[in-house]
Amino acid sequence: MPSIDNFVTNKMDELKKSSLLRTLQTTFRTDNVYIERNGTRLISFSCNDYLGLSQNSEVKKSSIEAIEKYGSGSGASRLITGNNPLYDEVEKKLATLKSTEDAIVFGSGYLTNIGVIPALAGKDDLIIADKLIHACLIDGIKLSGAKFFRFNHNSIEKCEELLKKHRNNHKNCLIITDGIFSMDGDAAPIDDLYNLAEKYDAWLMTDDAHGLGVLNNGIGSSPNKKPHIQMGTLSKAVGVYGGYVCTSQKVADYLRNSARSFIYSTALPPAVLAAAAKALDIIANDSELIEKPLNNARLFTKLLGLPTAQSSIVPIIIGDEDKAIEASRQLEQDGFLVSAIRPPTVPKGTARLRFTFSALHKAKDIEKLAEAIKKHGLI
Ligand SMILES: *Cc1c(COP(=O)(O)O)cnc(C)c1O
Repeated sequence: MPSIDNFVTNKMDELKKSSLLRTLQTTFRTDNVYIERNGTRLISFSCNDYLGLSQNSEVKKSSIEAIEKYGSGSGASRLITGNNPLYDEVEKKLATLKSTEDAIVFGSGYLTNIGVIPALAGKDDLIIADKLIHACLIDGIKLSGAKFFRFNHNSIEKCEELLKKHRNNHKNCLIITDGIFSMDGDAAPIDDLYNLAEKYDAWLMTDDAHGLGVLNNGIGSSPNKKPHIQMGTLSKAVGVYGGYVCTSQKVADYLRNSARSFIYSTALPPAVLAAAAKALDIIANDSELIEKPLNNARLFTKLLGLPTAQSSIVPIIIGDEDKAIEASRQLEQDGFLVSAIRPPTVPKGTARLRFTFSALHKAKDIEKLAEAIKKHGLI
């Protein structure tokens, strides 16, 4: 066997043994909140398309028109010839929604984080982050080469301890948190973190992938204080693809000149930008739609006696990886798609079912789901 095959076979065996092997499954997202897998139709509680905008007819129409007008691909990176006029439109809408001076659209949320963090922090600098931040923030931090410490989840005290101990030994300091934590659904204490950033001359960066379009009339998870860097994605509530940063004019101009994932990656296809622009219009204007995902998540937590949902994400912690997979299978037999989330996405011993709620779920769907969870004794 060639040594590369030997290497990967051993790696795969290890994953299998610890119930951590992942496999792709062909999935048809057809209409509304339904998906089809292996010929079976399931109601999905695992999509991040919180407002159903990926299926919205106006959004789809905007994409089609953009393809007709500009073609399928963008041709080059933004700094060469890929800077389609739709970029300007999307960035203005984002800056308006978040009340920031400027916004920059990147290829994806992942590309945003691995570009922005190394542009702002290097080996002489300090990064302090919540223990549960998203994996792509960690990748951005690793790329930056900055000294990195983590504080206990949502603990302002622990964050301040780290600042007290380490801030003075470094040039610049970046504090990083998710606005809404992607696997737990809880909110970060952004205003308190902002105050700490001010006190210790640090900059606050938030990842609001799950807040935009869902919380605070669509603005996202930080309606009061304005973190210095607010990043997010166009792939969740916005229903399309792409990442963004909302920030000051000066920081934005600098990032356009220094974030490597912005400079050295091809611009988004025009169809994606046109769809995002339309979806952002809907988010800015349809306050009734925006309220629905959170209300649906709260109906679910109420039915099961769980703590009130703070976002459209609700986890039920199972613990053991095999049991989490089995729980997901049981719900699938009842017609629900609910993904089991395992390490390393979540800490060891906290494998879970992760439920996401959409504006398009009906109360009766959520009631049936809650019944199934009780029936299987998952709570
Ligand atoms: C999904 C997600 C990202 C990555 O965004 P993509 O646009 O999918 O690359 C970043 N941060 C968080 C918290 C996310 O949930």
